[in-house]
Order: sequence, then structure tokens, then C-alpha cells
Amino acid sequence: MQNSKSADGVQVAAAVSPWPVPAEIMAIVDGECVRGAGSALAVIDPTTEERVSTLLEDTPEDVDRAVCAARRALEMGPWSRMELGERLAVLRRIQRLIERHADELAYLDCLDTGVPYVEARTRKIPRIVENFEFAASLAGMAAGDTFQQNSRYLTYVTRQPVGVCAIIAPWNSPMGLASMQVAPCIALGNTCVVKPSEHASMSLFRLVQLLNEAGLPPGVVNLVNGRGMLTGEALVRHPGVNAVKFIGGTETGKRIMAAASGSLKRVGLELGGKSANIVFGDADFDEALDGALLGIYSNNGQQCLAGSRILVERSISRRFIEAFVARATAINVGNPLDPRTEVGPLAFEQHYQRVLGYVGIARSEGAELLVGGAKPQGMDKGYFLAPTAVLAAANESRVCQEEIFGPFASFMLFDSTSDAIQIANDSRFGLVSYVWSRDIARVMQVSQAVRAGTILVNTSMVRELRAPFGGFNESGVGRDGARHTLDFFTEAKTTTLPVRKLSLRRLGVPTTL
Ligand code: NAD
Repeated sequence: MQNSKSADGVQVAAAVSPWPVPAEIMAIVDGECVRGAGSALAVIDPTTEERVSTLLEDTPEDVDRAVCAARRALEMGPWSRMELGERLAVLRRIQRLIERHADELAYLDCLDTGVPYVEARTRKIPRIVENFEFAASLAGMAAGDTFQQNSRYLTYVTRQPVGVCAIIAPWNSPMGLASMQVAPCIALGNTCVVKPSEHASMSLFRLVQLLNEAGLPPGVVNLVNGRGMLTGEALVRHPGVNAVKFIGGTETGKRIMAAASGSLKRVGLELGGKSANIVFGDADFDEALDGALLGIYSNNGQQCLAGSRILVERSISRRFIEAFVARATAINVGNPLDPRTEVGPLAFEQHYQRVLGYVGIARSEGAELLVGGAKPQGMDKGYFLAPTAVLAAANESRVCQEEIFGPFASFMLFDSTSDAIQIANDSRFGLVSYVWSRDIARVMQVSQAVRAGTILVNTSMVRELRAPFGGFNESGVGRDGARHTLDFFTEAKTTTLPVRKLSLRRLGVPTTL
């Protein structure tokens, strides 16, 4: 087999060997595969449009079985009471097993999402391993506070697992996003029930099998499958669940928050975005161009962090947009298993039709189609969309306000720094923002004024696991990142005790006045 190098120098096989695909995607409860009693849903490969597997949907009764298993494991099982060293040994075995199955997991990720194999194998799988490594270090360093300000008392804080967690994942990066939550959840002694998206369930099914093979006690990580309104909602409402971590769309996030409120569960929401990528005239032109293209077309444009509104200073706009269009036209769209492919198909048909629909919406709003807007010529099968960009008529238009979640960029021009800030902030989202400029004062001004959870300056996407990550506005509730993750997956318990013998007030004992 011939080998080639990916853009970041990692060796990848020139032709990817197909791996066996699970014939049926089932629930995993107590470490065992269990057939859901609900509908059988077709699992379609977005490249060939062929059925490759069947997802057995879990009913509320099936969800109950999984939650009960997680609760048993929490309350009776060894996991939450295990010495930390033993827990961390299991996490290390998990890392090794994922590394050993890296090719297979990347292949399933490709079939699930249409993301290029090279991107999955060289970027996503190492990140999943890193998520477990990071969670182990987080658990190893976790420590409570001590308060000694009151000289009569010592007050100290310990952390206990929050309990049974529901982790609900979207389809755009199922393993990467779920593992970012599952890893700290279990490292901190909790148990969980994971629900992948009904549109991308194969890779997470396999990953949860591997977690169990690595030696997790039964019931620590369980999996249920199915549509959000049935399986997802049953999980969120289940009284045996203590906390819900949800990664997905903003409207679903609102429903989940409402459903969880019935029993006042702890809820963390990582939601959608419509992030501004602001390019000033003094930016390093080539780097800003690379960053703008990566920001909207990597992961097939299906990413919460996408820099989907590209704001360019008018003075360089003509040259910048021309260069962007030339590069977008040259992007290799194709079979995600081909190592030359840079953009694969969208993940499923309904989503593909939705993204394509925005081409018509853009036209009707008076936007100019700059590039793409249709299926690339000669690609009859597969949910492919040529990298697309429009010059929007106004920031109020739908292509600037709604999350399209595909390889679709909306350009806008601006004339001044305050103009750029105002456009960036005129959004119901606030997940990230990108700024490209060599002027440090301007960079500081913009990064302070833009209302987004993360500001990336002169770089494309980077995720620092130790730093808070989450959204302003309707992009989320709460934060991930070391201390925030610790807060989410643990209950803080305050214990107060006297440091010397006390004389308490003695009720019921007559006092002499
Ligand atoms: P989605 O909201 O449609 O679904 C996400 C998950 O929620 C799926 O597993 C789905 O089955 C489940 N679900 C749907 N309705 C539910 C309900 N009523 N109760 C419980 N569960 C329910 O999102 P999606 O289309 O799968 O993913 C794309 C969205 O995710 C985009 O908006 C994207 O920006 C967002 N996202 C956010 C982040 C982040 O970190 N902020 C990361 C990735 C994706």
C-alpha cells in the first residue's frame, strides 16, 4: 500500500482499508449489547447513499434499564469507591486501546459524518486519546479548598461525584465531543449514559464497546440510541439522572433545559454558533486567508466553531475575496476515504437539503453567490456540496444570522473597528470569534468588546483543554475546561469542625443572670 503525508506531516495510508461495520447498532448496558425495543432505523453512508447498518432505537423502558445500570454501578459498584490510582490505570488502558483501534474508529467516523479520513485519523483520534489523558491528570490534581479565617473552626471542601450523568452528543464529531465529557465524568468517579445522535452512532457505539473492553466495571459507561424526541427526552427526564451534559443545537438545548427543570437536574449546554471571523487590512494576508478557509471548510463546515461570517475590511476586500474564491474552487471535494480529499459529503440527506436550501435563501435576500452553491459536477451519488461562499446583503439576512452548519461562508465588508465589533455582536450566538490584525491595540479592543466565549487571534481553531470553553448568549450555558469541568462533574461538600473545645449555648439549661 502506498503511503502519503497529510498537510501536518502525519503518515497516512493512501488507500484506506474498509473495516467491518457493526450490522446493528445497539444499546450497551452493563457492558453488554442489548437490542432496543423501538424502531429499526437505516444507517446510511453519506458518500454512497447506501444502507450500511441498522440502528435499533431505545424506548423509554430501554433508557430506564440503562439509567438503572448506571445508578447501580454508582451506588454499589467498585468504580466510585476505587482508589484513584486504580481508576487512572483503567483510563490508561482506554488510551492504549483507542490507539490500537485508531484506524477502525477513524473509518467509522468517516462513514458516520463524511469527514475526510485523514482529518479523522490524524486530528480527531489523537484528540480523543488526549481527552482521556487530560481527564486523568485533572482527577489526579483535583483538590478542595480549606478556610481558616475563623480561628475557632476549620472549614474544608471535598468533592464527590455528581452521580449519574446523561451525555448527549451531536452528529458532527460524535466521538471527539462525547469523549471530552465521558472522560472527566468517569475519571471523577461518576457513571453515565451516553446518547449519540441518531444520524451518527456507529463510531460511538464502537468506542463505548472499547471502553468496556478496557476494564471499566459494568454499568460505568452505558449507551442508548435513538431519536431525540423519544430516546433523548426519556433520558433527560429520567429521575435517576443527576446531571445532563448536552452538545447540540440551540433550539434542542432550550427543550432540554425545560425538560430537565422538572427535577432540577444540573444542566450544561454547548450549543450552536455563527462566529465572526474578522480580517483587518493590516493582517498577514496569507495567514488570514488560510485561517478563513480552514475556519469554514474544515470538518466539511460542520462545526460549532466555524468562522461562518467572514468580515473583511473594505480596503482589502476585493483582493481577499478573489483569493478566497480561487482557493475554495481548488478544494478537493470527494470520497472521504481518499487521502487527497479535503471536503467530504454532508452527514445525512435532510441536512444536505437544508444546507443547499440556504443557496436559494441567499439569492432571495439579494446576496451575491461568489463560489459553489451546488453539487460538484460529475458527483451523482453522495451528499456533496461544493465549498460555497456568498457576499451577504446585510448582517440582518438569514445567511448571517442562522447557523447553516455546512461548507457555506457569508462574507460582509466593514469600514472601521467599531463597525466590525458591531456586526460581530449583532447575533444571538456568541461561541467564538476570530481576529486577524497586526495592530496589538486593535486586537485588544476587539477581543474585549466582542461578546464570545473564546477569541482566537491570528490563528484558526485551537482548543486549550485547561481554559474555559463555552458560549455567550444562545451559544451555551456553563463552561468546559479544567476547573469548570471539575465543578460540573462533582458536588462540592463543605465540612466545618471546631479546632478546639467549644462552649455552645445550652438551650434548656437554666442560666443565672
Ligand atoms: P441536535 O440538537 O439536533 O441534536 C443533538 C443531540 O440531541 C442528538 O443526539 C439528538 O438526538 C439529541 N436530541 C434532539 N432532541 C432532543 C430532545 N428533545 N431531548 C434530548 N435529546 C435530544 O444537534 P445536531 O444537529 O446533532 O448537532 C449540530 C448542532 O450542535 C449545531 O448547532 C452545532 O453548533 C452544535 N454543536 C455545538 C458544540 C459546542 O461545543 N458548542 C459542538 C458541536 C456541535
